[in-house]
Amino acid sequence: MRIVVLAGGIGGARFLRGLKAAVPQAEITAIGNTGDDIHLFGLKVCPDLDTVMYTLGGGINEEQGWGRADETWSVKEEMAAYGVGPQWFGLGDRDFATHIVRTQMIGAGYPLSAVTEALCQRWRPGVRLIPMSDDRVETHVLVDTEDGGRKAVHFQEYWVRLRAAVEARAIVPVGAEQAKPAPGVLEAVAAADVVLLPPSNPVVSVGTILAVPGIREAVAEADAPVVGLSPIVGDAPVRGMADKVLAAVGVETTAAAVAAHYGARGAGAGSGPGGAESGGAANASSGSGSASGLLDGWLVDTVDASVVGEVEARGIRCRAVPLMMTDIDTTAAMAREALALAEEVRR
Ligand code: GDP
Ligand code: CA
Repeated sequence: MRIVVLAGGIGGARFLRGLKAAVPQAEITAIGNTGDDIHLFGLKVCPDLDTVMYTLGGGINEEQGWGRADETWSVKEEMAAYGVGPQWFGLGDRDFATHIVRTQMIGAGYPLSAVTEALCQRWRPGVRLIPMSDDRVETHVLVDTEDGGRKAVHFQEYWVRLRAAVEARAIVPVGAEQAKPAPGVLEAVAAADVVLLPPSNPVVSVGTILAVPGIREAVAEADAPVVGLSPIVGDAPVRGMADKVLAAVGVETTAAAVAAHYGARGAGAGSGPGGAESGGAANASSGSGSASGLLDGWLVDTVDASVVGEVEARGIRCRAVPLMMTDIDTTAAMAREALALAEEVRR
């Protein structure tokens, strides 16, 4: 079985780990979000690709969910001693090595997809990890300034430094319109038996991947069933601040609104209650309303069982099952539910 997963960082990585446990024989391709990528200290950092690689390769800091286990921070301390920032982004010594190798290979002319493949030769994640694009795409967030104006900041500055505490007015995947899907991305989607949208951030993870021209269309037109799992449980993100970026694209923080935002396959992509007209107009990743929807099936958590009917009324088959990725077994059970739903909706 060939399974394609559009993955962000922690939510995508943990789901992939459960999926691997559920179907060890499957050929899994993870298409990774690179909109979070940032250049720091002259190095190219790809947080979401690395979270997937470390999580599946056994190198992740489990409690934190990102970065390396057994990390030390000497380089960061030395940079601080020189007064060289930023200090708000956590790069440990072991992690630095990954970014040095990556930057060196990119400098030598290798595309990011080839570099990722090379890094994965060490980590052996057990899935084929492909960045969504070899081209530079950088998610920027339009925020209010103190003097009543607006400015765009890098997603990492908004998320990590500002902790999403200032209001996001729009989310812009800068460069996405000119970006091409990395080699293998469209082919993997077209050849897939199942396409899964894991419980990753619908706006700045999955939304960014879908903003690369060709990817949304490939998913919408895939022969395979497309099934998603809600990252929103009980009207809140399970972790992180997805509610803030959902608000920026005019989508309520509910499992049903996220399903509507992805839209039913064959129908126009929906938007949540509140509509795409509020603030989301400038957001190329929010689904324009003219493109097709994506979902055949949607899983919500059991605490959200009351919305199943509402989601199904939109033409999306919906089930309520436990969606908390507390350990590999519970996550594998989620993956099996997603695959079972995919079989149910297979055309
Ligand atoms: P990031 O790039 O590290 O932010 O990770 P992703 O975009 O892949 O995933 C972030 C999303 O994962 C957040 O919106 C969380 O709500 C969601 N998430 C994290 N843990 C869980 C979980 O155990 N269950 C569910 N359903 N969602 C989760
Ligand atoms: Ca991310």
